[in-house]
Amino acid sequence: MSSRHEKEKGVNVQVLLRCRPFSGDELRNKAPEVVTCKEYQREVSVSQNIAGKHFDRVFTFDKVFGPDAQQKDLYEQAIVPIVDEVLEGFNCTIFAYGQTGTGKTYTMEGECKRSKSGPNGELPPAAGVIPRAVKQIFDTLEGQNAEYSVKVTFLELYNEEITDLLAPEDISRISAEDKQKRQLPLMEDGKGGVLVRGLEEEIVTSANEIFTLLERGSAKRRTAETLLNKQSSRSHSLFSITIHIRETTPEGEELIKSGKLNLVDLAGSENISRSGARESRAREAGEINKSLLTLGRVINALVEHLGHIPYRLNIHTKFTFFLNLVFLIAYFSPAILNLLRDSKITRLLRDSLGGRTKTCIIATVSPAVHCLEETLSTLDYAHRAK
Ligand code: ADP
Ligand code: MG
Repeated sequence: MSSRHEKEKGVNVQVLLRCRPFSGDELRNKAPEVVTCKEYQREVSVSQNIAGKHFDRVFTFDKVFGPDAQQKDLYEQAIVPIVDEVLEGFNCTIFAYGQTGTGKTYTMEGECKRSKSGPNGELPPAAGVIPRAVKQIFDTLEGQNAEYSVKVTFLELYNEEITDLLAPEDISRISAEDKQKRQLPLMEDGKGGVLVRGLEEEIVTSANEIFTLLERGSAKRRTAETLLNKQSSRSHSLFSITIHIRETTPEGEELIKSGKLNLVDLAGSENISRSGARESRAREAGEINKSLLTLGRVINALVEHLGHIPYRLNIHTKFTFFLNLVFLIAYFSPAILNLLRDSKITRLLRDSLGGRTKTCIIATVSPAVHCLEETLSTLDYAHRAK
């Protein structure tokens, strides 16, 4: 669609690491700090004492944000170029990945959802990536002489089932039989993408509206949690922003650009079997791990295969080639087919993980010793995804 804007931006998978500050409880308990962030060197080191010996493990990322980094810092240093890309008509995805309680939701949504922007339109300091992205989108579009529309969807994926977080219906009135009907099916859109049938698309006309939408989504998530015995740490949420821009070139030609930004708050990465999962939780645990695993594989494959495809091809051809390859294999190998088909999160993001896209993974960790094991596994995963 954005044919005249096919700049060679290249494919990009970026992995960032964010370590949150100590919580009030951790400070009171004088929890030892085991994670040290060296932002300038883009390094994170984790200190461990094993059998009386001291070990340091060092991980390198594209960018590192320590406990003092503010929401604004992370956004300006890492996210602005991604949103610029979306405004140019590309599809991009940002994931938050990490243990429950390490700041995934804080990073993506932030706090002060209810508060309005300040007098000069600036956002509250604790506003996360979603409101900041929406603000950047409107600031850019309002300064352009073009027609545009901005639509958002907000859904939750729990146990491989999709719930619309923006649908106006009152879920507390829904009976158990209706629950099944409410599950929104995933459909092919005929253009290589996937769509969720019946998903509420909300048209947004200013950055401020986003706080109301986020609040509505979170409230619905909380109700669903209590009513349906869900646990938010076991669900993924996906906030998507789609922009259509209609421009007229100086030659009088009409141009339509459409870009999509996916903001994914993944389920807690903790190893569920270790956290004493009950029998009934086993299925969920399997589903979460499957989604994460599939996603990790897709990203790994994308990164790895780029290096193997002949260098002389341009990046777009390389990717089309690679994606075709993946789908060919997928269609002929039942095992791979299952892997790709079974994970809704991967299907939902299919149009945004290949082609001319940027993918950013924000891995979040806690600085405290009691999270050490999970921190190491997050660092290992995120390091490999690179
Ligand atoms: P998760 O979504 O990964 O389970 P949350 O985003 O809910 O974690 O964060 C857990 C708690 O830590 C929240 O109270 C949140 O406000 C706080 N927190 C997380 N990251 C930061 C940060 N970078 N700065 C200040 N507080 C943070
Ligand atoms: Mg959360």
